[in-house]
Amino acid sequence: MSDRILAAVMPAPHQPIEIREFGRPELPDGGALLRTARSEVCGTDVHLWHGRLAGVPYPIIPGHVSAGVLESIRGPLRGIDGELLREGDRVVFFDVHRTCGRCRACTVHRTPTRCAERRVYGITDSAADGLFGGWAQAIYLEPGVGVARLPDAVSFDDYIGGGCGLLTAVHIIERATMRPGDSVLVQGTGAVGLSAIALARLNGASSVFAIGAPAARLELAREMGADEVFDLDATSAEQRLDGVRAGTHGEGVDVVIEAAGSARAIEEGVLLVRDGGRYIVAGHYTDVGTSSLNAHQHINRKHLEIRGCWGSETGHFLRALGFLERYAATVPWHRIGSRTYALADLNTALADAEAMRITKALVDPAAVAL
Ligand SMILES: [Zn+2]
Ligand SMILES: [Zn+2]
Repeated sequence: MSDRILAAVMPAPHQPIEIREFGRPELPDGGALLRTARSEVCGTDVHLWHGRLAGVPYPIIPGHVSAGVLESIRGPLRGIDGELLREGDRVVFFDVHRTCGRCRACTVHRTPTRCAERRVYGITDSAADGLFGGWAQAIYLEPGVGVARLPDAVSFDDYIGGGCGLLTAVHIIERATMRPGDSVLVQGTGAVGLSAIALARLNGASSVFAIGAPAARLELAREMGADEVFDLDATSAEQRLDGVRAGTHGEGVDVVIEAAGSARAIEEGVLLVRDGGRYIVAGHYTDVGTSSLNAHQHINRKHLEIRGCWGSETGHFLRALGFLERYAATVPWHRIGSRTYALADLNTALADAEAMRITKALVDPAAVAL
């Protein structure tokens, strides 16, 4: 690789993506440079482009979940599992870094995704600090970043197809404390919802319902493991409630997973879940306004558990890799990544993601095409 590394930079919200040149970073002990094979354009990147996330240090190099080949390593580099990694290895890394391990969130409450020190590649790292995002020919892996070898059975496209949505889905299933034979309904058939469907199925759900749109995503939802899908645009909330109750002894499902990011979805979700069930809210990554609930009807008398799910931890990253190693051949994660774009085409990729023409765009930084 030359010393001239190209990256696609988001200068500020609503501004076109620009290609900028970066120097090859000096590596400290324990640091590494990853030649990027694949990164992604997901819903988060559209939110970043719309300026809907607080505290983002623009300009940034987006692309938080990425995969590649170790180009250079300074000093020994061990993966999370303790294995010694070598230049030329296909690896992936956990995009969340600098979680402090000392604050109250980390130690007392054991909620490291709420650590104030936590930073995320491609989201909360500035391009002024260097190559901290996947929309670039190379990514700087600072010392302490969690790195893992990509299993041979997992292609770069499988890994990025699952991507951040799969990591989030592992966390969601954990938060749902799913029991064998639980019935599950997933609201939303974007990248998070599709992976949640697959993991609910693999985790032993008796039936999996999904609500979403457009038709192509519903077809993929079935292939990911949904038994019954409801087209959000072609059915009424009443029809969906009737359909779900008809399949669950008139009760509603044991677990509803919200991965839709809509205030109306919350109002519907509390009706679709059975009395005493669990409702996991994971899609409200940005503030989309207020939902209207009646505490007596929907929470107290219903004996409902409502749980939020924010971000993911190193364990979710490693367990996502385990799922991919075992199931990528049969669960079509690679199909979530609908199209692959070169660095110069990322304005188009963002527009396509924004208009929901694609579920997720893959980024191939080797295909520069400037
Ligand atoms: Zn902390
Ligand atoms: Zn993402």
